[in-house]
Parts: sequence; structure tokens; C-alpha cells
Amino acid sequence: MNKKFEDFNLDKYIIKALYNLNYKMPSKVQEEVIPRLLKKEDVIVKSKTGSGKTASFGIPICENIDIEKNVQALIVVPTRELALQVKDEISNIGRLKKIRCSAIFGKQPIKEQIRELKQRVHIVVATPGRIIDHIGRNTINLDDIKYFIIDEADKMLNKGFIEDMEFILNKIPKKSVKGLFSATIDDDIQYICDKYLKTSNILDIKYNDVFDKNQIIENKIKSSENDKYKNLKNIIYRENPTSLIIFCNTKDKVKKLYENMKKDGFLVEELHGDMSQDKRIFAIKDFKNNKFNILISTDVAARGIHVDDISLVINYDVPRDKENYIHRIGRTGRKDSYGKAITIFTDKDDKYINEIEEYLGYEIKLLEELKIDDIAKGKIKFEKKSKEIFKNRNNKTINKNIHSEVTKIYINAGKKKKIRVIDIVGAFSNLPGINNEDIGVVEVQDSCSYVDILNYKGEGLVKKYKEISIKKKIVKLRKDRQN
Ligand code: AMP
Repeated sequence: MNKKFEDFNLDKYIIKALYNLNYKMPSKVQEEVIPRLLKKEDVIVKSKTGSGKTASFGIPICENIDIEKNVQALIVVPTRELALQVKDEISNIGRLKKIRCSAIFGKQPIKEQIRELKQRVHIVVATPGRIIDHIGRNTINLDDIKYFIIDEADKMLNKGFIEDMEFILNKIPKKSVKGLFSATIDDDIQYICDKYLKTSNILDIKYNDVFDKNQIIENKIKSSENDKYKNLKNIIYRENPTSLIIFCNTKDKVKKLYENMKKDGFLVEELHGDMSQDKRIFAIKDFKNNKFNILISTDVAARGIHVDDISLVINYDVPRDKENYIHRIGRTGRKDSYGKAITIFTDKDDKYINEIEEYLGYEIKLLEELKIDDIAKGKIKFEKKSKEIFKNRNNKTINKNIHSEVTKIYINAGKKKKIRVIDIVGAFSNLPGINNEDIGVVEVQDSCSYVDILNYKGEGLVKKYKEISIKKKIVKLRKDRQN
């Protein structure tokens, strides 16, 4: 029989959050992993992309957070985009329990992060380099860590990151629960498991395969190097996708293709490591908000990034890593939706295609010549759709407030005015009708602060009070735009 979230004996605020998130039932990986992590067992989990892995560790971590203590869970991920996504999901799960989760990654001012870590933060999602920096500076205290999760573990335990991972593993409390997660994980991680984990058993969540073949149709198409761009356009028109990701193997190729497609009038954005962090974050955010319909990316978007409605993935270059093929195409056909993945290959790619097919255990279906008729018809439809998106792209983004009982309030004063979390809690709980239970996560920044007001009391509060006094200073309040 299928389990329900209630069967895990979770905190009522977590159950409520899952209800608000519209998670009706635990996914397969959640059914397997949640009870184990709750029982404080180490886990190594192989589960297909988009199967709900994040919540499978996010839920038990939130359940076991002691709200009065600082950092109790550390989650490391390979990219900054993924760090933000994981942080958002965990924040949503824990928000009603007043759990604060932070994303810590490179290219952000370290001072701001230090300040953030000094406040109460229960869960940290980080990229390896920056967290090691904080450990070195002694600006994060790892003594209370109960859970240490390595997401996309096969990548993180690979040559580039393994030393960093061992460094962290040696710093966190020995008794902390450890979890390794990925869609592609194999015995290469044995060494780490033997040395640091209490298990070396891979929990292989079977969905027939690493991704559901019924959900993603895979094709390949042969092209000469010169015809690649023409073929790409034809595929897009023929497939007429809602939105699509095109993967290239290098930053330079992404940039070049982006310029070409922009010149040709496509509604396109790029994503690669040479872009500033802000631009990268906005690209993903705008893509999620449907402000454009084509994202060209290096493998930074290959792992973990979840965008609803990507109906097509095109490999403009054949990935050099067979595992990356799986991660790339897993951006489509997520949860219960369907998608298509088309790989363009040239003579030079035969070796890599063979490797991928061997790894998959089947041959990717070769796409026959694209029919001119289909291309022409699709072009009209695709261009019409793109125009529509372009027309609406300046519409204000409506941020879905998942928890309607919570209102995030902006306060125009912060650390510079010597305001601390405790002062905000004190001031708000002194307001008539508001008590401690109604005050959720509080965040104090340099010149402003934010406070969650729970139990449907926030809207009325901002209507009634445009200003309040905190520590004898008059501060302005308003509903946060990001609510
Ligand atoms: P992930 O594999 O963690 O990237 O999750 C894929 C998507 O599934 C995310 O958008 C999650 O918010 C969503 N999700 C996770 N668990 C559930 C669930 N039990 N029911 C419905 N959606 C879920």
C-alpha cells in the first residue's frame, strides 16, 4: 500500500507545509529514504532525476532540526544554481516550523555570508569551495551538525572535488548522519563509504531505469559540422516545444550559439561559468518564470535544475561524459510530464555516442530526415508562441506564495541601526494580537530586515501599521515584494 506523509509521524508544521506544496504522497525515493534518515541511518541513494530526491532528505532534516540551535545540517552541491534551488525547496518545507536555510556559494561577498552565519541558520546548502573557506576562517560552527548530505555525489566524489569532500568529512562530527544522492552513482564511491559511512549499500530506487524511458523519448540525428546550426533550427521548429534547453560542451560554444540565435530572433538566454553570479541567477529565474523559451547552457544546468514544462532538450554537442547525457536529458520529462531529448552528432562523435549507448544499454533511435512540411508548419506555430512570450515577458513576475498563512514583511532597518533578531521578535510580539508563535523566520541584513508573520496575521498587520518602533527607533514596514 502507498504510504502517506502522515505515516512518518512528522511535525504538524511540516505536514502542513507539504500540504501547501501540494505534495500529496511521498514519491518512491521519499518512501524509502525518509524513514531511514529519520532513524539516523546513513544512506547512499541512486534515484532518477526529478524523482523528489531533495525533499527525501529535506523532510527528515527539517523534522530533526532543533529550532533553538545553529547549523545542524550541511548539504553540499556542485553548482550555485542548484544550491539556490535546494535552499528554496528546503525553506518551503521548513518555513512553518520557522526553519531558516541559507545558500552559501562563491562569487558572493563573504562578509555578508559571515554575517548571515552569525545569525541563527539551521541548514546550510553550499558549494564546496566557499564552505571550506568558511571552515578555514572559523566562521561556521560544525559542532552541531546532525546531517551531512552530498547531492550529485558521483560528481562531488570525483577527481575535482574529492579532496574537498574529505576535508569536510573530517571536520563534521563523526556521529552525524551522512547521505549521498545522485541519479548516477556506482561503486567508485566505495572508498568514501568504507572510510566515512556506516553503510556501503546503494539504495537503488528502481524506476526501471535512471530516468523513465516512457517519459522521455530519445532521438539522435546525424549532421555535418557545417549543417549543425541549420539542423538545430529545423529540430526546434519541427518539435515546436513549450520551452527547451540546448546543451553545448564549452562556454565558448554556448556564447557563439547564443549570439547566432539572438541574431536570428530567437527568444534565447545563455548560462555558463563566465557570467556574473547575478546574471546566472536571473537566467534561471527568468527561465522558470517563462520570460523566454530557449536556454543555451553548459553542463552547469545539467544537474538537478528543475524547471516545469521543459518539453525538449537538445544536445548541440554530444556530452563527453556518459553520465552527463543522463543528467542533461533528465531536465525534461520531470515528475509526471513527458519530454523529448534529441542529440545532434557528427562523424567525430561516433565514439561518444557508442559509449553513451553502451551505458544506457540500448541504441538511441536515429531520427530520419526532417520533413520540410513539418518544419514549415512548426515554424509558424513556434514563432507565434515566442511572440506571445515576448509580449508578456515584462509582466510582473507573480511569485507564488506557497504558504498563504505566511506574509513576509520588509523592515527598512537592519544591522547598521544595531537591530538584532531578538529586537524584531520583541517589537512584533508586543503588537496587539501578535505573539511569539506568530513570528516565523527573521533575517537581519545590513540596511533592512525581513520577518515572516504566520497564521494569516501578516496582511492585517501591514495594513494597520506602516511604522513601528524597534529599539526606540521608528522603522517602516511593508509587505515584501518577493512574498
Ligand atoms: P527533485 O528530484 O528533488 O529535483 O524534485 C523534482 C520536483 O518534484 C520538484 O519540483 C519538487 O518540488 C517536486 N516534488 C518533490 N516531492 C514531491 C511529492 N511528494 N509530490 C509532488 N511533487 C514533489
